[in-house]
Amino acid sequence: MRKRRILHVLAFVILILPAAAQAAPAVLATIKPVHSLVAGVMEGVGQPELLIGGGLSEHSYALKPSDAARIAAARVVFWIGPDLETTLSGPLANLAGGARVVALENAPGLRRLFARPGGLWEGKSPASGPINPHVWLDPKNAIAMTRAIAAALSAADPADAARYSANARSQIARLTALDQQLARLLAPVHGRPFIVFHDAYPYFDTRYGLRAIGAVTVEPDRPVGPRRVAQLRDALKSGKAVCIFREPQFAPALIMALADGTTARVGVLDPLGADLPPGPGLYPALMEQMARALVQCLGQRAP
Ligand SMILES: [Zn+2]
Repeated sequence: MRKRRILHVLAFVILILPAAAQAAPAVLATIKPVHSLVAGVMEGVGQPELLIGGGLSEHSYALKPSDAARIAAARVVFWIGPDLETTLSGPLANLAGGARVVALENAPGLRRLFARPGGLWEGKSPASGPINPHVWLDPKNAIAMTRAIAAALSAADPADAARYSANARSQIARLTALDQQLARLLAPVHGRPFIVFHDAYPYFDTRYGLRAIGAVTVEPDRPVGPRRVAQLRDALKSGKAVCIFREPQFAPALIMALADGTTARVGVLDPLGADLPPGPGLYPALMEQMARALVQCLGQRAP
């Protein structure tokens, strides 16, 4: 009897040991939306770390010594790429020695758009030059990113490959449903003209037929010249744009000054999900929050 029980215990230990002994690889993601998509693919295996959290801007992030240590300890690092987290190019090349560094702006099947200048856009979008790095703001791109994330994680951690690919499949189904939901939500504000703070939204706009007609700035941390300020104010005054959007990462003074004395409304767009809790649910929440902010500000009701 006793022997049998020991055998049972032994069998149990042998069955669970392989799973328990395999620790999830140390995974680091740069910005919250990337972290969210990675967290979804890693569910049940482990949790990725977030490098650039809180209210930090994706453009002006400066590496802290503690972050350098986290990069050095990671086995897989996911970032958008040198077009977005520009200041990380050097540290990722130098610190992440043995790590797999995955630039999601290069994910197979991801759609890329070219960067536009700041101010009011007249005429067509450019057909060459640097790319606009806000690639995650299109659920179809998030699907391409999910596939690339699952492939990289499976290569780094083959023991959990089946889990990663099952998670990726359910995440892709959720993103497909999200895309349809956003299209329905945004249909009433097709073609309503607005101005954004920085040009983070062409992926969202082209996917859902929205009409941003200009951006206050291309590089959010550089001052805006008086000519552009006058040009944007004219657009708001004449009703060429019905709404101007600020972003929680940046002080609202300039946006408020632009809108002051015009009939334009001021809304908030947050391309990073600064106030949302990190995790698999952040990405859909961020996209829905953006859609609702657009619908609310661009809606037909009187100002
Ligand atoms: Zn940006």
